[in-house]
Amino acid sequence: MAVSDLPVKRILPLFYLLLSSFVLAQDQNISRSVILIIDAGHGGSDSGAKNPEAGLTEKDLALGVAQRLEKSLRQEKKLTVILTRTGDIDLPLYARAEKANKAKGHLLLSLHTAYDLRADSAGPRVYFCSLENFTARLSAQVGSFSKSLPELTPWDESQIPFINESNDLALLLQNRLNPIFLSDRSIQTSPLLLLQFSAMPAVLVELGNLSDPADVWRLKGAEALEQMNQALKSSVLEFLSSLTR
Ligand SMILES: [Zn+2]
Repeated sequence: MAVSDLPVKRILPLFYLLLSSFVLAQDQNISRSVILIIDAGHGGSDSGAKNPEAGLTEKDLALGVAQRLEKSLRQEKKLTVILTRTGDIDLPLYARAEKANKAKGHLLLSLHTAYDLRADSAGPRVYFCSLENFTARLSAQVGSFSKSLPELTPWDESQIPFINESNDLALLLQNRLNPIFLSDRSIQTSPLLLLQFSAMPAVLVELGNLSDPADVWRLKGAEALEQMNQALKSSVLEFLSSLTR
């Protein structure tokens, strides 16, 4: 039977099947060697956000999600994954950026959770560093942080060439994380120092709000945590497979 003879209701599912297999192939087809840096936020004496009643601490959640993602990406032959920390240690922002930049990473994913008591603060938030907040606040921020730096970092403008790619990556992640949290949140921009210092596409993801009961429920549940892992994994693979540089 010629394709033109097929009724539309039979062609459409075929079309969607072909489309979805194409998208899947795109997702998982990394054609050259690339390096992913996963940064588990906080650590050591810096616990980050906490919800003691729920038994949740940001530094532990971030490391758990980072290690789960690293494990689930092990079968990707052309992908090298580097974690900025693998234990409960203090690690300054400049040391995280130094590790990522020296490794010549192709993508930096920094993992966090929030603790925000304001209304409408539940759900995932994905940040990238836009040119506007870069230029407006960079000098003031580096000035205030420079006391804690061993020397003024040479990387303070590293992110500028990668802003558009970071924006694309943030959109991918936000769109895949939103359904897990029943959220319609948009991506956000912030002059976060780690992002500014990163010489690669870089985003910071807050996987929910530790002050919100529904987010806490998700972060304590194996099923939602695995859904978050799959969202991170598919976004990262799609982004890395689309890189041309
Ligand atoms: Zn944090």
